[in-house]
Amino acid sequence: MTMNKTALVTGSNSGIGLAIARELAAAGYAVALNSFTDRPEDHALAQTLAQEFGVEAVYLPADMADPQICRGLVQQAHEHFGRLDVLVNNAGIQHVAPVESFPLERWDAIIAINLSSAFHTTAAVVPLMKAAGSGRIVNIASAHGLRASPFKSAYVAAKHGVVGLTKTVAIELAQSGITCNAICPGFVRTPLVEVQIDDLAAAHPDMDRDQVVRDIVLQKQPSRQFATVEQIGGCVVFLCSDAAAQITGTTLSVDGGWTAQ
Ligand code: NAD
Repeated sequence: MTMNKTALVTGSNSGIGLAIARELAAAGYAVALNSFTDRPEDHALAQTLAQEFGVEAVYLPADMADPQICRGLVQQAHEHFGRLDVLVNNAGIQHVAPVESFPLERWDAIIAINLSSAFHTTAAVVPLMKAAGSGRIVNIASAHGLRASPFKSAYVAAKHGVVGLTKTVAIELAQSGITCNAICPGFVRTPLVEVQIDDLAAAHPDMDRDQVVRDIVLQKQPSRQFATVEQIGGCVVFLCSDAAAQITGTTLSVDGGWTAQ
């Protein structure tokens, strides 16, 4: 167990982020959950984690589309726990459309939430981690940080940006006891992907939903299986462990072989 260590996971009231928070809590970290909403059920998620794993947990509402709010979230988490050992940049959204008709507002939102937020939280956390002499930054990129797919121009651009940011931050901090890595999941069955399955099913009325999953979505992944949210959470815990102290500036693919092709 990792006693007294603390972690902030952005975009963690759902899907991969929530599972990362759960795996970190199971490993003994106090965790700060986040999303842009401020509902009783968001705060209840933190209470559930605290009860289930016997760690401190708090939900901090903050919109990762806003640079100052991103930076403020890091300060808030640090003030709440008195230390911040782990930052996981996970918040993300998707929009699928041809480049020539890609809505400007969606482009701006995806770049802000999926890429710029990681820059702002990292800029805010680095002085705190440097003062502590250690820290772990884990960015949830994507197979789309390494490969492209049509109609995902903003997402692919943002995730390639996250991989570039990860490498740059890692070498800047290489002698400071702080590591920075990116996890690149393939398809994981979360609300973000269910929406894409719905859209594909609507575009292929000749196929049922299972066929869409098997023949279109998982066609990218040689394993023909989704990665699970728990597997992504487990990889974050590994990158935060002592075994990973010399792993920095790299990408960890969890994609059933997608990017080996
Ligand atoms: P999800 O929709 O379940 O989770 C996204 C999270 O981000 C939610 O908690 C949501 O509330 C939060 N969020 C969205 N906008 C926000 C904002 N403005 N401020 C704060 N939080 C915000 O989807 P997911 O699949 O769990 O995605 C999590 C991350 O994993 C994303 O960065 C996504 O790009 C990445 N990813 C997902 C897959 C996949 O197949 N599901 C694959 C590769 C990478």
